Amino acid sequence: MQGKIALEEHFAIPDTLQDSAGFVPDNCWDELKHRLLDFHDTRLKLMDKHGIEMMLLSLNAPAVQAIHDVKKADEIARRANDFLAEQIAKRPDRFQGFAALAMQDPDLATKELQRCVRDLGFKGALVNGFSQINTPESAVYYDLKQYWGFWAECEKLDVPFYLHPRNPIPSMAQIYEGHSWLLGPTWAFGQETAVHALRLMGSGLFDAHPKLQIILGHMGEGLPYSMWRIDNRNAWVKAAPKYPAKRKIADYFRENFYLTTSGNFRTQTLIDAMLEIGADRILFSTDWPFENIDHASDWFDVTSISEADRIKIGRTNSVNLFKLKP
Ligand code: MN
Repeated sequence: MQGKIALEEHFAIPDTLQDSAGFVPDNCWDELKHRLLDFHDTRLKLMDKHGIEMMLLSLNAPAVQAIHDVKKADEIARRANDFLAEQIAKRPDRFQGFAALAMQDPDLATKELQRCVRDLGFKGALVNGFSQINTPESAVYYDLKQYWGFWAECEKLDVPFYLHPRNPIPSMAQIYEGHSWLLGPTWAFGQETAVHALRLMGSGLFDAHPKLQIILGHMGEGLPYSMWRIDNRNAWVKAAPKYPAKRKIADYFRENFYLTTSGNFRTQTLIDAMLEIGADRILFSTDWPFENIDHASDWFDVTSISEADRIKIGRTNSVNLFKLKP
């Protein structure tokens, strides 16, 4: 398919590059490093070759969220956003951007989001899970009340928020001890991000801000497969839900979430996501440079869905959500 738009596509700046070093074997690091720092060479050539008209770019992970010095976190976020804006300005027809935000301080994050959307023309924010604040031993999640002013601004600016994965910090990852192969994209990323998303849904955030839109990668981090069970456990017990939100979790999932195909190129999984959330809320993405553009595109271009859905997922859903003018 020509004219695809992809939106979980990462880059690094020198300050954040090393954050990606552990995710591939040493003999692949030179290649990954090149892919992360490159915008206009390999990346554009692969986009041309595989029918990707536009990428919405975001900083690598965990980057800003793991900088527990709040001032430094904000400084790195601003530096990355300014750098990204310069790259976009060279090819606005091919690249657009997501803001990196120091969620460690909701006020700083709100101001930087405003700057990125109003002054730099960014299409939303991409944040790598919980933030470490003041100490590396902290993990702060965004359903907490101190973030609701930030979410109000996000809704007001009418831009989506991409909740991207990160690993749990070691002191909170006992279940993975002795099984480090489960960390990262294999399992821990999805687990961490799915629970964070459920916290948002159950908190009542979307009752207060019904227009807020959250994007999840990797075909929804496992949530489509579990959505019915979340709302229907012990259905014979007539008791009100134990969370503050007013509606069923699946209602928020269907009305306040979009999913992308990043790093999860499997027809069976896509069809399950389509059956739970609908083709209007699924967006093509690759997860470059951690996954290959050809692996994503060669699969998506021929996967057994209707051509109408392929065009929606590959392109028009993103054009509408991000108000793109390609
Ligand atoms: Mn990613």
